[in-house]
Amino acid sequence: MTTASVCRVAVAAPLHRLFDYICPFNVLPGQRVKVPFGRRDVVAVVVENAVDSSLPLDRLKQVSEVLDPSDRLLGPDDLKVLRFAADYYHYPVGEVVLGALPKSLRSGGPARAQRDILMLSEAGHATDPASLTRAPQQLTLWQRLRLRPEGIDAATLRRREPKLWAAARRLIKNGLAQTQKRSGAITDFRDARIASGPTLTPDQTTAVAAIDAATVFSPFLLFGVTGSGKTEVYLRAIETVIQGGRQALVLVPEIALTPQLVTRFERRFEAPVVAMHSGLSEGDRLNAWRAAREGEAAVVIGTRSAVFMPLARPGIVIVDEEHDGSFKQQEGFRYSGRDVAIYRARKHNIPIVLGSATPTLESLYNAQRGRYQRLDLPERAGPGTPPDVRLLDLREEPVDQGLSGSLLRAVGRHIDKGGQVMLFLNRRGYAPAWFCSGCGELARCAQCDANMTYHHSTASLRCHHCGASRRAPKECEHCGEEHRPVGQGTERLEETLARHFPNARIARLDRDTTRRRGALDDLLERMRKRQIDILVGTQMLTKGHHFPEVSMVGIVYADQGLFSTDFRASERLAQTVVQVCGRAGRGSRAGEVFIQTAFVEHPLLQQLIQEGYEAFAQRAIEEREAATWPPFSHLALIRARAKDAHSPLSFLEAVREALPKSNQVNVLGPASAPMLRRADRYHAQLLLQSADRRSLNAVLSSTGDNLSALARRRNVQFSIDVDPVDLY
Ligand code: ADP
Ligand code: ZN
Repeated sequence: MTTASVCRVAVAAPLHRLFDYICPFNVLPGQRVKVPFGRRDVVAVVVENAVDSSLPLDRLKQVSEVLDPSDRLLGPDDLKVLRFAADYYHYPVGEVVLGALPKSLRSGGPARAQRDILMLSEAGHATDPASLTRAPQQLTLWQRLRLRPEGIDAATLRRREPKLWAAARRLIKNGLAQTQKRSGAITDFRDARIASGPTLTPDQTTAVAAIDAATVFSPFLLFGVTGSGKTEVYLRAIETVIQGGRQALVLVPEIALTPQLVTRFERRFEAPVVAMHSGLSEGDRLNAWRAAREGEAAVVIGTRSAVFMPLARPGIVIVDEEHDGSFKQQEGFRYSGRDVAIYRARKHNIPIVLGSATPTLESLYNAQRGRYQRLDLPERAGPGTPPDVRLLDLREEPVDQGLSGSLLRAVGRHIDKGGQVMLFLNRRGYAPAWFCSGCGELARCAQCDANMTYHHSTASLRCHHCGASRRAPKECEHCGEEHRPVGQGTERLEETLARHFPNARIARLDRDTTRRRGALDDLLERMRKRQIDILVGTQMLTKGHHFPEVSMVGIVYADQGLFSTDFRASERLAQTVVQVCGRAGRGSRAGEVFIQTAFVEHPLLQQLIQEGYEAFAQRAIEEREAATWPPFSHLALIRARAKDAHSPLSFLEAVREALPKSNQVNVLGPASAPMLRRADRYHAQLLLQSADRRSLNAVLSSTGDNLSALARRRNVQFSIDVDPVDLY
């Protein structure tokens, strides 16, 4: 048989397969093509070449166009990572592959950017530098351009060194320099200047040496207390990588919350640092993507989706705050950025560093088993000392809207001494319940099995599960009595504090106060400039902020999570407590932490405070083992939802029947979801558990597109969540 050219392509369609086309052109995996699909021509990515197809060749259609001649948008390893992720998370491969491209490339836009390259003109090369001594900026630039006959990127110069850019314009005006259009990157950052950092502590030195020595796939768990200098370790490890001409990929939980981090990287390296996150415009995303792929960016910092950015010369992967829940996508393609990063580092055969002050039990356990090499930073690196932590018993003393006398006195003491205070409460709004003092009626959401939260600033009732919102009625519609807000949210906390500290500058950090564009930056900026005395906030407070003047942190209510049925609740609580505590005493001021609880003797809190996170984690790992929860088993959750209460359960019954029987895999359920009705849909779930990851994957893979067909027939929507972080 003559070799027919068949190529298998990924198309953005909700199907678990690739599609075969006859290809009269020479194409390589990773190239974009256009193919007839249904009634249209669509953009597709070639994933494999083949010589045959399971379909008769004369039934195959032809590729209609090659979009990037001799240019692979995705390298072989990138494709492997994407196919692995599609397979592992059971998400349609075409959507995964196409989803890794910026929007304009998915619709056929050009892959390479036209750039303006600045270089010396002939006259510029011939000129005597002595003639420029009166214009030092021009001289500096002239010298740099002499060393780089290939030129430098004009836009980068304009952005990073505006003074030199001004000099460039003078040189151009005088005919000594010129710009040329060129496509593709030219920057080589091997000789980039790198600003010096502090002298490393012995622990940091050990950690950096271990990472520097790794030349092949080597996963490290960098377990360093908050403020121990983990970021400094990343910077040094990256420095070595950059000097070797390779790129670093840094994954972080939320860039908007840690703008200082990107600045810190930019200050350290003269080489290009690009940030990739959801706040970017489409144009900026495309530029960042190109810079990563073409090898122009030395460092790519991004949130979870950046794990799929192609890199020309990957050298190291870093996952900062690896315990953070935001690495797991919670809808659609439910991948874990951290776990995919590990697979990716393995494919590229490069080191990966997972850093945290509160590593997940999974990562700690992997380190115990020798799968990860553990690097410890047990002490703070900078001027800070670990804070004093104390539990306050909510049953012991009078409490004003959630704030005990002791806590209020401590706040007063700290702000009198000029320190800043942070108070953490993981509940936004004014009060979690709106209650009728006459008949006891509670405001409920019409679409969910949930109470409405009262928001005072808008006088509205809002459902935090579906977003429903309505005006808060003053009087009860049943008995006419007055309504009262019951319990506390951050909004009420702010009000109560204002009552006790009328002269203090109080601000609130939660999703309500940061919705407006720029509001978050303003707030963080005011905090840094010490224009805020007390900052009240939700989970957003815990995220790696570095405010050296914060001398006190209070956890208003630690008990959510102490008695939850979710097997991860205690781990999450411990991480939150430790991370919140880590915000105190980061500068020269000694730090104090107060944790309010009605369960002072609870073993989790006691152990966490007396022995620290690791002791807590050790015990929690043993509990997981006894109960065979992860990491001692692997889970997948199939969720279903529908308009009526019956369909999700009957669909999942059918799924259960359709799954191949395996004695390696336990199937639990179906059962109604803990919150049965949410956003006007009834929810149910089926849990698969196995000690063996492969068996679990095999069972799920065998269902292929069958689940979709089953679901369509019953009008049910469903999702598969492999390694779920939440079991609701
Ligand atoms: P982490 O990432 O563990 O929270 P950072 O790297 O942000 O820690 O360091 C915390 C503080 O300590 C920062 O202000 C940093 O500049 C400082 N720091 C880090 N390493 C050192 C060092 N070796 N010597 C002095 N200061 C350091
Ligand atoms: Zn609702």
